[in-house]
Amino acid sequence: MTIKMTLDQAHDLAVRALQSCSCDEENAHAVADTMIAAERDICKSHGLFRLPGYLASLKSGKVNGSARPTIERIAPAVVRADGHNGFAPLTLEQARGPLTECARDNGIAALSIVRSHHFAALWIEVCALAEMGLCAFAFTAYKPSMAPAGGNKPFFGTNPMAFAWPRKDKPPMAFDQAASATARGDIMIAAREGREVEPGFGIDADGNPTTDPNEILKGAQLPFGGYKGSAIALMIELLIGPLIGERTSPESGRLDVEDGGPPQGGELMLAIDPTRFGNADGWEAQTEALFGELLEQEGVRLPADRRYQNREITARDGIEIVDSLYEKILKDTGLPREFGN
Ligand code: NDP
Repeated sequence: MTIKMTLDQAHDLAVRALQSCSCDEENAHAVADTMIAAERDICKSHGLFRLPGYLASLKSGKVNGSARPTIERIAPAVVRADGHNGFAPLTLEQARGPLTECARDNGIAALSIVRSHHFAALWIEVCALAEMGLCAFAFTAYKPSMAPAGGNKPFFGTNPMAFAWPRKDKPPMAFDQAASATARGDIMIAAREGREVEPGFGIDADGNPTTDPNEILKGAQLPFGGYKGSAIALMIELLIGPLIGERTSPESGRLDVEDGGPPQGGELMLAIDPTRFGNADGWEAQTEALFGELLEQEGVRLPADRRYQNREITARDGIEIVDSLYEKILKDTGLPREFGN
């Protein structure tokens, strides 16, 4: 059974739920914006499904719902943001201006975020930069959930990376992919719905291949493309740990309080101004020529196009959430029932 609501109703529900657990208005709006962007694009694993985790980390005191980031330029092309143990969305929102300015000054710039709690899809932050004409990358680590190539115990996080490329008069091309064969949220949703997942997504606690999501959650997820996804996960551990000085996934695994919410962690973003690399007059036309030729093959689409098409559906029909999720939100927050019976 599902419950229908408009995007505005879902946003309002998320804001009120977060505020009921001592999140201030600015943080509640920033977090709700990211969850509802995911609902709008039908990326269910990072929509309201994440709300109980956000609430749990406020209740446990792990996350400060009133945190304000501090942001400084620590090198000509490096901006550093300290999230002071708040949720990532407000830090990302407030660091976007300084990062953009730094990228336009230098042609390329980096943003390192520390002491932050990230629980969202990364396409949101790279697309925001691409909407302003910049090419953007984002990387974050998590907690041990994926076995390294050759191993059979969780070690790496699902460690996603995202990339967005700006387009003239069109929404950006963007891809955003976990280093694991699929996002953990999708395994959790399959477990909730009682369905199997595809072979290759994970192994059980004894290291045997399984398609049972509950066994994978007790065992380990697997990297996409074997050693190739494993190498990308390793790169992201190095960027988030030794480079910017935040916790690697194994460190997060030892230090997190396991309240079900996002662990403390870091994020690295890179922003590139395509007008500063010697092809200022040609990059847009060459981009469209490349995409046009690519799309001549039947069956090919650009990454992100699925999401853009989904926006038309949710703008028209609203969204649906499973009633067990709605019940949990009401139970966790004490909010009155407004939807369903
Ligand atoms: P998917 O495997 O669903 O998709 C990966 C990318 O491939 C998407 O950009 C998708 O675009 C694109 N894609 C899929 N099919 C095609 C196709 N046929 N042609 C062209 N492009 C295609 O994502 P994952 O399961 O790997 O990751 C899901 C999310 O989980 C990500 O948003 C990631 O940021 C998030 N995540 C967050 C973590 C955190 O700690 N915050 C940890 C791990 C993951 P499209 O959307 O258009 O389908």
